[in-house]
Amino acid sequence: MNVLVAGGAGFIGSSYVRMLLSGVLGTGEIPGVTVLDKLTYAGNPANLGPVGGRYTFVHGDICDAELLSRVVPGHDLVVNLAAETHVDRSIESSGEFVRTNVLGTRTLLQACLEAGTPRVVHVSTDEVYGSIDRGSWSEDAPLSPNSPYAASKAGGDLVALAYARTHGLPVSVTRCGNNYGPYQYPEKVVPLFITRLLRGRTVPLYGRGDNVRDWIHVEDHCRGIQLVAERGETGESYHIAGTAELTNRELTGLLLDGLGADWSRVERVADRKGHDFRYSLSDKKLRALGYTPEVSFTQGLGSTVDWYRSHPDWWGPLVDGR
Ligand code: NAD
Repeated sequence: MNVLVAGGAGFIGSSYVRMLLSGVLGTGEIPGVTVLDKLTYAGNPANLGPVGGRYTFVHGDICDAELLSRVVPGHDLVVNLAAETHVDRSIESSGEFVRTNVLGTRTLLQACLEAGTPRVVHVSTDEVYGSIDRGSWSEDAPLSPNSPYAASKAGGDLVALAYARTHGLPVSVTRCGNNYGPYQYPEKVVPLFITRLLRGRTVPLYGRGDNVRDWIHVEDHCRGIQLVAERGETGESYHIAGTAELTNRELTGLLLDGLGADWSRVERVADRKGHDFRYSLSDKKLRALGYTPEVSFTQGLGSTVDWYRSHPDWWGPLVDGR
């Protein structure tokens, strides 16, 4: 079994690769792994340090059709986690988001089609649905993205599903909530707040902090991706829901407690433009395939705080722009 992980040097992609190579996913068989990554600011070979030398690394872009025609053949499974992912960056400038998340996805899917890849999983987000005040989305909810990031992810999802329907490409789409865990680039809220608090600084809380997010440990997300790779159906989407629905204010309180800090360290900042109020996924379809999350939020957040506390060598250079 050979697996190609596009975006495998990023936060979730590297967790997936570390888990694959540790034999803790699916059947436990350790596959041959190729990581294809452009190494943008968010891609970091150090994320793969713990499994160093046990995978093949290709430095490249999922928009590069010629490169893909050489790299994709010979893989039994292609998982696409390569993306531009930070909403705030997409508000500042959206070109790279459309390029990688839509055109890059299309280029990778086309390469899989030409190579006859037997299984493809395209990883996406709950943000493609927009915002929901109450209840939860099922997989057939209409896509109604608000940020340029979410719109570019929705575009990629639709291209993936079209490749399944039009060409019969054996691709499934996964959509997940907000991830947290080790090796997350310290611009996203959990590592941003932890690293700033560890340095004795303040943390910025958007607006009143009422926005609600559903949190999942990155390893549970990877378990869901693997289950879909093994048991998902062509042309279907699957939700990987979180284990803790929290307002940003509640999350901030838990992080302050975890780091022994108080509310004097919180700075209220102007709300994000077009800020979605709430995301919520129903994961009935994935649970019917046998999925259950394994990491409770309390345990996962505690171990995440401990990880950043003990790995300043990983995040220090990123925070300092080195
Ligand atoms: P990340 O930003 O940490 O990593 C993205 C990786 O993709 C990086 O290694 C980067 O170098 C690489 N990359 C970017 N553009 C590329 C290109 N053109 N060609 C090749 N590689 C490229 O992101 P993440 O948080 O690990 O997210 C991975 C996927 O999961 C994304 O599709 C994202 O939309 C999705 N997702 C993330 C979350 C979350 O909370 N982080 C939640 C749901 C879904």
